Amino acid sequence: MNDLMEKVVALCKRRGFIYPGSEIYGGLAGTWDYGPLGVELKRNIKQEWWKEMVQLREDIVGVDAAIMMNPKAWVASGHVEAFTDPLVECKICHLRFRADKPDEISEHEDFHKDEKVEWTDPQKFNLLVKAYLGVIEGKESEIYLRGEITNGVHVNFKNVLDSTRVKIPFGIAQIGKAFRNEITPGNFTFRSREFEQMEVQFYIRPDKQEGEKWFEYWKKNRMDWYVSLGMRKENLRFRDHADTERAHYAKAATDIEYNSPWGWQEFMGIHHRGDWDLSRHQQYSGQNLSYKDPQTGEEFIPWDIETSAGVDRSLLFFLIDGYTEENGRIFLKLHPKLAPYKAAIFPLLANKPDLVKLAHKIYGDLKMNFMVIFDDRGNIGGRYASQDEAGTPFCITIDFQSLEDNSVTVRDRDTTKQDRVKIVDLKAYLDGKIK
Ligand code: ATP
Repeated sequence: MNDLMEKVVALCKRRGFIYPGSEIYGGLAGTWDYGPLGVELKRNIKQEWWKEMVQLREDIVGVDAAIMMNPKAWVASGHVEAFTDPLVECKICHLRFRADKPDEISEHEDFHKDEKVEWTDPQKFNLLVKAYLGVIEGKESEIYLRGEITNGVHVNFKNVLDSTRVKIPFGIAQIGKAFRNEITPGNFTFRSREFEQMEVQFYIRPDKQEGEKWFEYWKKNRMDWYVSLGMRKENLRFRDHADTERAHYAKAATDIEYNSPWGWQEFMGIHHRGDWDLSRHQQYSGQNLSYKDPQTGEEFIPWDIETSAGVDRSLLFFLIDGYTEENGRIFLKLHPKLAPYKAAIFPLLANKPDLVKLAHKIYGDLKMNFMVIFDDRGNIGGRYASQDEAGTPFCITIDFQSLEDNSVTVRDRDTTKQDRVKIVDLKAYLDGKIK
């Protein structure tokens, strides 16, 4: 593992961002548990996404569909037949790898150094995770844990049309877990077997120009969003899918990639899916999934421009992008909106009851509006260092002057500069900074 990656992984474990799944039992490959800091960061990413995609828009509504679906939905979506990765097996140690990942293949060949590795021919391997429902195990009760969250949206297209006032063009947003039987989970949470996605299916008129317009719109919209939350522009790029790489029904597809310690990697995609999904669900369910234009009376199956992002991959890249070492300090330069704690509150000395009492009062007031933390352990320098690693953008210290003039110091994580702020102004001060 690369040096930066090792440091981020170690920090995640040490500070409670991310732990290996079921660690005390030796773990379960491809699963990860988010700790006290990680769960806040993850919630903040999802909250910001939802705010931008649903709350602030008039043309997108949300759903939260069941993870377990009627298995026919996965036949219709093509996943049962075609949700496969090409798999090759090393004839020396019988480990399996994805044939379409040359880096992993050559890394494994290096592992066997002195021997010449021979590989089996690629075989298709379906990534859907199976589960059994009901009391009798067998074909009848076999279901799939969803391999992507998209279909929970498409199967509700008609419900949303009938129960809300949406008009084309409009989108349906969803955030939720997906499961894939990945052959080679790895690079920390990057390739997991259980992960979360945040997606919008944006339905438009079936028209070439409309399709191109909205595809470009969503590309820009999504790139701008990551940059607005602090990801460095130079670490982001678009990668258009080649014709051979695209699903046969996809009219266009682009990934947004991040310049990760192990190369440029996809963490979200914008896909022009045409009418593939709704047509297939219409065909397999026998239900009419067309849209009737209220003005013209024209009926059609809309096209879908999908934006599909990984919550876990986004989180990992926000962490990597924010990891900073400067003048002997380690700090996580997370955007204040994403930071797990917005501020930490310290009494200068833990053994001075007046300072502690005032610090508790400030903590009690601020926590009604912000996720904040109280800390009176050790010395101030140690507390700053601890909050720097947690990505806390502001540290508020209550000192002897506070008892006299009701002001406190607020120290900025990135510059280490301190402002003197009146206690009554603290909420407005933080509000202004967390914009
Ligand atoms: P890859 O080629 O890396 O396997 P994909 O093209 O199969 O990814 P999509 O099916 O387009 O990915 O899924 C949309 C998003 O879901 C991805 O951009 C990624 O952020 C996330 N995602 C997909 N698979 C995983 C996984 N195994 N672990 C974590 N996130 C994932």
